[in-house]
Amino acid sequence: MTTNPDVMDKVVSLCKRRGFIFQSSEIYGGLNGAWDYGPLGAELKRNVKNAWWQSVVHYRDDMVGLDCSILMHPKTWEASGHVANFVDQLVECKKCNKRLRPDHIEKGKCPGCGNNTFSDPRAFNLMLKTFLGAMEDSSSVTYLRPETAQGIFVNFPNVVDSTHRKLPFGVAQIGKSFRNEITPGNFTFRTREFEQMEIEYFCRPEMAEEKYREWIDARFSWYVDLGIRKENLRLREHAKDELAHYAAGCSDVEYLFPFGWSELEGIANRGAYDLTQHATHSGKDLQYQDPITNEKFYPHVIEPSGGCDRGTLAFLVDAYHEEQVKDTTRVVMKFHPKIAPIKVAVLPLLKKNDGIVALAKNIKRELQKDIVCVYDDTAAIGKLYRRQDEVGTFFCVTVDVQSLEDQQVTVRHRDTMIQERVSVDRLHQYIKDHLS
Ligand code: ATP
Repeated sequence: MTTNPDVMDKVVSLCKRRGFIFQSSEIYGGLNGAWDYGPLGAELKRNVKNAWWQSVVHYRDDMVGLDCSILMHPKTWEASGHVANFVDQLVECKKCNKRLRPDHIEKGKCPGCGNNTFSDPRAFNLMLKTFLGAMEDSSSVTYLRPETAQGIFVNFPNVVDSTHRKLPFGVAQIGKSFRNEITPGNFTFRTREFEQMEIEYFCRPEMAEEKYREWIDARFSWYVDLGIRKENLRLREHAKDELAHYAAGCSDVEYLFPFGWSELEGIANRGAYDLTQHATHSGKDLQYQDPITNEKFYPHVIEPSGGCDRGTLAFLVDAYHEEQVKDTTRVVMKFHPKIAPIKVAVLPLLKKNDGIVALAKNIKRELQKDIVCVYDDTAAIGKLYRRQDEVGTFFCVTVDVQSLEDQQVTVRHRDTMIQERVSVDRLHQYIKDHLS
């Protein structure tokens, strides 16, 4: 395995410098395990979520979406098994009292002080507890959801009744989840507040294996189709002894981060466990009834569960390139056009020339109707190009004196740096064609 921690430092620093990701509440010293997306990060993450939603909901005939609340009835988490089993092992360093997960301790040494003696491990529940209403007692305890999936399971009968869906069909959801991770770290890879993109795909039990394999392929291809280099992705199928007792299979899509191969998404074949658990705890009949045969049964479920922040981090790391151009190093983020935060930068060559400025602003106004673009006149053209490369802007459109005479502008392509003259009236279509 080749890992390169330097690249991680460079990506983290670029994220801060260019407004992708900031430390949460930085002016107060930050909050461990929480991050804020800046102006460019917000665009990037939104593009990742839109690409996911498009691929798993809009481009399919067998999927619908949900948007459930973060707070759920506390019985949900008893039924799902989270109250009893959603635990990590925790040890304490005997010298500095730092709390750690035993499987996150490298070479037997505390990362805080280097000591090598620890307390005995104990189970630590990862759910974040809170109180609802004015009373802070055990009757008002609930949890910030540790996954979005349970919102889908408890709504299974609502979705069937309101949409008349027949098996097989799936439900997708994007939303915040919270886990009181013992050792958050590796930037946004492991945090205490994060966003998940989850699917529960319901099918007849005998179809589960086939659908499980289909979803593994679909989810792996999604990352490749959005530009992640294939050699940086792999599938890891869980061994039998890693699986939950009810699961028939689980495979992770892993990415080769600078800190090593790590999970982006898990695809699990979960049997009928979740629906039967909720039926038992709620006393409600959550079976599916076949509309033709009237046969009643619990569907099996395939669960592709990805992290939006982890995915976004993989897109950031994979896009990071350094290239030698003459005697300088060009840093360029080679995002796929679909997820690049900005598609076009319109740049006037001379900001004191009223004609150039007016034409550049007009061009931007026309493009921004359906393409995300910016106007920038705050530096010389060479510097502006470098800035746009560093944030992955797909095209730079430069307006110069000649443009006023021939109504043509220079279009510079991010990856090749090739420049072409394109007439203003063809520009919008030209850009749309290249982006798609
Ligand atoms: P890990 O083993 O890395 O803790 P997990 O197997 O517990 O992850 P799941 O419960 O399967 O993760 O959650 C599904 C997805 O949610 C993960 O693949 C990951 O992308 C994302 N995710 C889970 N925990 C976190 C976290 N603490 N920070 C960011 N993303 C997370």
